[in-house]
Amino acid sequence: MSNLVERDRRVVWHPYAPAEASPLFAVERAQGVRFWLEDGRELIDGMSSWWSAIHGYRHPRIEGALTQQIDRMPHVMFGGLTHEPAVSLCERLVEMAPSGLERVFLSDSGSVAVEVAIKMALQVWQSRGRPERRRLLALRGGYHGDTFGAMAVCDPVTGMHGLFEGSLASHLFADRPPCRFEDAFEDSHIESFAALLSDHQGEIAAVILEPIVQGAGGMWFYSPDYLRRVRRLCDEAGVLLIADEIATGFGRTGRLFACEYAQISPDILCVGKALTGGTMTLAATLVSGEVSRSLSEGEPGVFMHGPTFMGNPLACAAAGASLDLLEETDWAARVGSISEQLKTELEACRTLPAVADVRVLGAIGVLELHAPVDMSVVQPAFVERGVWIRPFGELVYTMPPYITESQDLSRITGAMYQVVAAI
Ligand SMILES: *Cc1c(COP(=O)(O)O)cnc(C)c1O
Repeated sequence: MSNLVERDRRVVWHPYAPAEASPLFAVERAQGVRFWLEDGRELIDGMSSWWSAIHGYRHPRIEGALTQQIDRMPHVMFGGLTHEPAVSLCERLVEMAPSGLERVFLSDSGSVAVEVAIKMALQVWQSRGRPERRRLLALRGGYHGDTFGAMAVCDPVTGMHGLFEGSLASHLFADRPPCRFEDAFEDSHIESFAALLSDHQGEIAAVILEPIVQGAGGMWFYSPDYLRRVRRLCDEAGVLLIADEIATGFGRTGRLFACEYAQISPDILCVGKALTGGTMTLAATLVSGEVSRSLSEGEPGVFMHGPTFMGNPLACAAAGASLDLLEETDWAARVGSISEQLKTELEACRTLPAVADVRVLGAIGVLELHAPVDMSVVQPAFVERGVWIRPFGELVYTMPPYITESQDLSRITGAMYQVVAAI
C-alpha cells in the first residue's frame, strides 16, 4: 500500500465506501482523457469524474479563464454585490435552457440546487395561499442528491429512507417508468404516476424527476412520451414540474438538455456536474417567470436561501469557458459518434453470462449484471487494464469525456467486456 493511501485510510472519508478495505488509488495528475497514478500507471477515464469532465482534464480554455479570474478576484460575497462572470453565466444559461426559464439561482453543488428547487416549489404554494401543497411526487429509481431534502425524493430503497425514518419528509413515489427509451408508449405505463397525482393532487407542490435518464438510481433510460405525458398531467393538475438535469445537462444524452427529447419545459430546472467542465463545484436552479413572480408576490417576498459561496467568480468563469467550448466544438457530433461506437462495441457483452441488459443513450453505455459486482476484485481489474471505470451495485457503466478518441473508447469497452467476462 502506498504511503498516501495509508495516511488516507487513517483520517479520510470517501463517498459511499467503507473506511477500510475497499480499493483506493492515489492520483497525481490528469490531462486530456487520462490520469496518472502515483506509481506511474496511466488510466483512461471512462467516468468523466462522475459526468463532469466533459472536455477532459486541464483544457487550456478553462484553465485560461480560471487564471484570468484568479488575478481579478477568486471570490466575493454575492449579497449586495454582483460581477461579470455570474451575470454572463446566468444570461447564457437562460438562453440555452428550454424556453420559459428566466431566472437563475446559483449554488455550490447539485444537492443544494435540488434543495433550492424544492424550497422554491414550497414557497410558491405558500405565496399562493395553498400551504397544504407541500408534498413532492417523485419516481422510484430516481436520484437527486445526498442532503436531507434531496434524499427524501431519492428512491426510497437505494436512498435508504428506512435508515432516516422520522427525520425525512414523507413524499410520494410512482413506479419507475416501465417503458424503455425506444419502446412504444402505452397508457398503462403511466398509470401509477397518474393515480398518485390524481389521488393527492391537493397536497402536491411539485413533481420532481430526472428527464429521460435516471442516473445514480439505476442508469435507466425511459421514453420521451412518458415525460411528455408527465408535463401534460402536471399542467392539468396545476402542479409544478422540477427537472433534475444535473447528470443529463450539457449534451450527455445526445441533446443539450434531456427535456428536449420530449420538447417540454419544466417550471424549475436543476443543473450541475458538467456545468464547469468538471473543474469547480457549481450548480444552478433555473425557474420560470411565473415561479419567480409567485415567489416575490407572497410573504416574505424573497426566496429564503443564500449560500456563502454563492456565485463564486472562479466557478462562474470556468462555467463560462466550458459553455464556450460546448458552443464552439461540435459536441453533438462527438456524442453521436461515441454513442454509435458504444452501441457497436458493447453489443458483444450481451452474450456474457453475467450480463442481464446492455443499453446505450448518447455518451452513456451501461451493462446491467444479474448480481452486484465485488468491488474488491472488479476495481483493481479495471486499473490493471489501464481504464478507470467505477461500477455501483450491478451496474458497470461508462460516460466518457466528449473528446475521447475512438481507440481510447475501444480500450474502455474492451476492458468492460473482459472484466465482466471474468465474473
Ligand atoms: C449527482 C446528482 C445530484 C447531486 O449532485 P451533487 O453535486 O453530488 O450534490 C443530483 N441529481 C442528480 C440527477 C445527480 O446525478
